[in-house]
Amino acid sequence: MPMLVCTHSDEDAIRSAAPVEGGDVAMPPADTECQAVARLARAHFGVATVLVTLSNAHGQRLKAVDGVLPDVLPPDLSGPSLQASTATDGMIVVPDTWVDERFRGKARWPRFYTACALTNADGLHLGALFLLDDVPRALDDAQRAFLREMAGLIAHGLERERLLPTLRDRVKELEAGAELMTLALAGSGTGVWDRNVVTGEIHYSPAWKAMLGYEEHELTNRIEDAYLRLHPDDLAYVEAAMRAHFETKTDSYAVEHRIRCKDGSYKWICSRGKVVNRDSDGHALRMVGTTTDITALREMAARLQQSVELITNLTNEVPGLVFQYRLMPDGRAFFPYASDGIRDIYGLTPQQATTSAEAVDAMIDARDLAAYRQSIEESATSMSPWHLEYRVQLPRQGLRWRQGDARPQRLADGSTLWHGFITDVTERKHIEAELQESATIDFLTQLPNRRHFMMQSEAELLRLRRAGSRVASVLMFDLDNFKALNDRWGHEVGDRALSHFAALLRAEVRTSDIVGRLGGEEFAMVLPDTGTDAAVALARRVQQRTSSTPLLCGDAHIVLTASIGVGTMHATDVGAYQSLSRGDKAMYCAKERGRNRIEVDGD
Ligand code: GH3
Ligand code: MG
Ligand code: MG
Repeated sequence: MPMLVCTHSDEDAIRSAAPVEGGDVAMPPADTECQAVARLARAHFGVATVLVTLSNAHGQRLKAVDGVLPDVLPPDLSGPSLQASTATDGMIVVPDTWVDERFRGKARWPRFYTACALTNADGLHLGALFLLDDVPRALDDAQRAFLREMAGLIAHGLERERLLPTLRDRVKELEAGAELMTLALAGSGTGVWDRNVVTGEIHYSPAWKAMLGYEEHELTNRIEDAYLRLHPDDLAYVEAAMRAHFETKTDSYAVEHRIRCKDGSYKWICSRGKVVNRDSDGHALRMVGTTTDITALREMAARLQQSVELITNLTNEVPGLVFQYRLMPDGRAFFPYASDGIRDIYGLTPQQATTSAEAVDAMIDARDLAAYRQSIEESATSMSPWHLEYRVQLPRQGLRWRQGDARPQRLADGSTLWHGFITDVTERKHIEAELQESATIDFLTQLPNRRHFMMQSEAELLRLRRAGSRVASVLMFDLDNFKALNDRWGHEVGDRALSHFAALLRAEVRTSDIVGRLGGEEFAMVLPDTGTDAAVALARRVQQRTSSTPLLCGDAHIVLTASIGVGTMHATDVGAYQSLSRGDKAMYCAKERGRNRIEVDGD
């Protein structure tokens, strides 16, 4: 085993003895502790040199030296790879290297060599403590033990030194963690408490006290006082929760309750804790926990609840149905939200529509179902507002009119969500129908009025133009001497006479015939698919029916007569009024020729 030994008296020999297993002999940084032990060892053993070296996989380096500094470090024979064959106690003593097998054939070494292993508690080889001298020596058992003790001292110091940075880092980490925790707790309005269950003492963090408005020196540490601060209404369930946790029925203690502040007001807090120490019988010894101010949170929750209630009440109280309707890409549809108004609008409960819209579809009147579906589809495709007036057939209400309005919104999954409302428009529809009727029907005779009659006549003229082979005739009626009738029987009887004549006209016409009151005591007919002869025949039937059906007025029988003009509607007419003029002309002809007559216009 080659080795280099450094002595102050044989520097040349040391230099020529390379290569070596030794390592760096640069002066180590001052290590007063290690250095002191080296000094003590040298003084005690009276050797020329004491070295302390550190070893690792890459070799040795000098840690401390007392006496002559060698140029090269001696090999560490106490190391784990070498010592097994030579010694078991970590100490190699070579009394005289000149006569030692391991040093044979080498340059002149220091005569005396001892290496004592430096080992930590885990048995890890840290380095060696060397005694070197120029003369042969021996170590007795006491000296060996002493050397080992010194090596132990150095190893202990080295180990402490080795762990120190790690410990420092750990402390820094813990400090940072604690600081973060403190910041987090302070920021979240959370205080910490620590309770000795046995003595009834409880300690609060400054943040805990501040939360209730107390200074750090205020508040006692008695748990009895803590319970006095609880709101009386909350005391029972807080105690029950605490008991349950003491009896290990719960994994931890967590309860929300009110607590009195210094100024007498109450705050809502959330208290969470856990028993961290129990005796052998499982009795709680120590408990720690946190207290968080949740007053603002609860107020917010209460306000939120109020707004939810307000919206629910509003949507439930407004007449009609407030809803959300969702159409999925696969065609399924349902009402995610339906206000209470669905009971009126569709005779259903909100629940009946939340999973499927089928129950609603079933209420739509068969005549409007296709339009209803199409309108929804169009709204979804064009993303335009949905508007529809449609009929529903409800079990209790029967046929009713509904008006729906909603705005669509496309969702990420491709479905469409409408927000809208549906109202009952049955009354409005009835009024509209009445208005429509009054705009088209003459109230007295219940026949179409002039405007409506003219519109229908124009429509017939259009039909005539489309089919050239068709014919149509026009009849004009004017009651004879009606003024005189009014004068004699009164206006009321005159009105009855008008209704009476209208009924006679209605009795003679087919559903396809157009009949109307043009005004005063003038009436007209347009007879589709009717030639002049048939028209004259009809005029005659009217004449006969009129003369044979007098108006009964008390005991009096009033027989009406009318002058009738017959004309033809031509496909070439610019407007329906032309054919009516022809009929008019013929009618005046009938007047002139003595009344109660039928005249035909030749054009
Ligand atoms: P002619 O044989 O030439 O047609 O004579 P006439 O009296 O029927 O003709 P005229 O046009 O002079 O008179 C029509 C009368 O019809 C005048 C008017 O007071 C009456 N009349 C018009 N509208 C109504 C109505 O709604 N109710 C009643 N009772 N009379 C009406
Ligand atoms: Mg007239
Ligand atoms: Mg008249």
